[in-house]
Amino acid sequence: MADGNGGLRGNAYRSDRNLQALLGRSAPWLSEDDTERLSSFGGWVASVVDEQADYTNRFAPPVLETLDEGGRPRSAVRHNPLYAAAHREVYEHGIVGLNYGPEPRPFTLTFAMGYLLAQSDISIHCPVTLTGAVAHVLDRFAPEPVRDDHLPALVRMDGTAATGGTWVTEKQGGSDVGTTETVARRTNEGIVLSGLKWFASNVDGGLALTLARPEGAAGGGAGLGLYLVPAHGPDGAPNRYRIRRLKEKLGTRGLATGEIELEDAHAVEVTPPPGGLKTMMAALGYSRIHNAMASAGIQRRAFAESLAHAEARSAFGDRLAAYPMVQDQLVEMQVRLEASVALAFAASRAFDAAQSAPAEQPWMRLVTALAKYLTAAWAITATSRAIEILGGNGYTEEYPTARLYRDAQVLTVWEGPPNIQALEVLRLADAEAPGLAAFHARLDAILNMPFAASHSAFVRARALIFQARREVAALTALIQEDEAEGPRQAHRLMDRMARGLAAALLIEEAAADWGAGDARKAVVARLFAAQELAAPEPPRPSKSEGQRFFRPLAAYERIETAHLD
Ligand SMILES: Cc1cc2nc3c(=O)[nH]c(=O)nc-3n(C[C@H](O)[C@H](O)[C@H](O)COP(=O)(O)OP(=O)(O)OC[C@H]3O[C@@H](n4cnc5c(N)ncnc54)[C@H](O)[C@@H]3O)c2cc1C
Repeated sequence: MADGNGGLRGNAYRSDRNLQALLGRSAPWLSEDDTERLSSFGGWVASVVDEQADYTNRFAPPVLETLDEGGRPRSAVRHNPLYAAAHREVYEHGIVGLNYGPEPRPFTLTFAMGYLLAQSDISIHCPVTLTGAVAHVLDRFAPEPVRDDHLPALVRMDGTAATGGTWVTEKQGGSDVGTTETVARRTNEGIVLSGLKWFASNVDGGLALTLARPEGAAGGGAGLGLYLVPAHGPDGAPNRYRIRRLKEKLGTRGLATGEIELEDAHAVEVTPPPGGLKTMMAALGYSRIHNAMASAGIQRRAFAESLAHAEARSAFGDRLAAYPMVQDQLVEMQVRLEASVALAFAASRAFDAAQSAPAEQPWMRLVTALAKYLTAAWAITATSRAIEILGGNGYTEEYPTARLYRDAQVLTVWEGPPNIQALEVLRLADAEAPGLAAFHARLDAILNMPFAASHSAFVRARALIFQARREVAALTALIQEDEAEGPRQAHRLMDRMARGLAAALLIEEAAADWGAGDARKAVVARLFAAQELAAPEPPRPSKSEGQRFFRPLAAYERIETAHLD
C-alpha cells in the first residue's frame, strides 16, 4: 500500500470531529445505528477502499474487452478483483439502499457516507452517485410499473445490487442538452433508441437513464423524453448497445468512463416529452450534492495528509507545523474545508426537506448550485496545496496526493461546470423566483440571531457578510434592469452568494458551541470571512489569528470564548 493514509488515522469517520459535531448539531434524527454504520463505513473506507484505490490507480485500471475468446465482437469491461469487490461491497453498507424500504433513512446519512468514501476513492464514489441518482428518479418520477420492475434491483443491500448510469452528454454538447440527437422509435417490440453517448461513467452498470427525442418530436429540450436502458432486453439477451471505447483520462483512472453506441437498444419510457429533461435534472440535482460531498471529502483528505506530514517532518531544526507560513497554509485549507462541509450539508438538508415540502425546491436548487461550484473549486486548490506541503514526495504515486490532485479536477467539470451552475443561479435569482428571497431570508435568520447580532467577536465577520449581501442585491438589481447583464454578472453573483452563505453557515455553527464556552468555530468563521470576503489588510506586527490559534484549530480542540477579543 502507498504511504500516507496516516491522515485518516484508520477511520475516516472517527477521526473527523468536525463531521461528528456537525451531524450532532444538525441531524437530531441520527440514531445509534446510524452512527455505528458511519463508524464502520469510515473504517472500511480508510483501509480496504484506500488500499484498493491505490492499487487500481497505479497498477490495474479497467480494460475494455472488444472480442470474446472465440474472436467474436463483444464489449465488456474487466475490472481488477479489488475494485470489483469494493464496488460490490459499498452497496452492502447501504449507501443507496438505506434511503428506501419500509423505514427509509434521510438522504443526509448516505450523502455523509459519500463524503467519507470520496476521501479514499472518487472512482467508486462516482458509480455510487449514479446508482443513487437513478434510484431517486425511479422512486420519485417513474410510472409505478417501471418503478416496481427496476427500483428493487438498485437498492438491495445483499451484495448483488445493480448499478446505474446517467447518459446525458453527447459529442456536440454536455451542457446544451437540448441539442440531443439520440432518437427514440416505437416499434412492435417497444421503444428502441439509436445514437451516440459521448461520456458514460460506470459504463458497464446495469441500468442507465438517458435522453432521446421521439421521432417527430419538437426540437430543443422540450422534445426530449427520459428513458431507462437496462443491460439486458426483455428476452434476457444483452441489450443492443456497444461500448465503443474507454476514455483515457487525466484522473479517476479506476472509473470506467466510455462512449456508448445505442443500436436500436431496448428502452423503457420514464417521462415522455416535454418533461424528460426536467426529470433528468432531478437526477443531476441529486448528483450535484454528492459532487459537493466528494469535493469536501477530497479537501478533508488533502488537509489530513498535509497536517500529518507537517507534524511529522522536520526542516531546519523544527517541525514544519511550527513555521508560521506553513500554519497559514494549513489554516487556509482548513477553514475552506469546514466551509465546504457546511455548504455541502446545507444542500443535503435542503434535499431532505424538499422531499416532503415542494416549496423548498427553489432553495434546494440554489444552495446545491452554490455548494457544487465553490466546493469543487477548493478541491483543486486544496489538493495542489497538499502536494506543495508534502514536497517532492507528494508529487509521487507513493503518496495519495498525486491521485487526489488529478481526481479533483473532474469535480468542477462533471455534473455541470461553474458557468452552468452560474446560469442555474441566475434562473433562481430572478426577482420573480423564490430562490433569491430564500437566500436573503436564510442570511437574515442567521445574521439576526441574538448571538451573531450582539457579540463583539462577530462585528467584522458580520459586516463582511452584509457587504457581500449588498453586492448580491446590487448585482441582482443590475440584472433585473437589463437582462443582457445576466450572463455578464452571473459568475460574480454566484461567487458572492456562495462565499456569503458559507460565512453565515459557519457563524450559525459557531453559535451552538459558543453557548458551551467554546469559541473554536467562531475563530473558523472569523478567519473565513476575513480570508474570503475582505480586501487584504495592511500588514501588522503580530501573529495572524490563524497562527495564534493554529494548534486548537488543527486538533479540533476547544478555544475558550474568553480568549477571543
Ligand atoms: C471523467 C468524466 C466522466 C463523465 N461522466 C459522464 C457521465 O457519466 N454521463 C454524462 O452524461 N456525462 C459525463 N461526463 C461529461 C460531463 O458531464 C460534461 O463534460 C460536462 O457536463 C460539460 O459538458 P461538455 O464537456 O460538453 O462541455 P461544454 O458544454 O461544451 O462546455 C464547455 C465550457 O463552456 C462553458 N459554457 C457552456 N455553455 C455556456 C454558456 N451558455 N455560458 C457560459 N459558459 C458556457 C462551460 O461552463 C464549460 O466551461 C463526464 C466527463 C468526465 C470528464
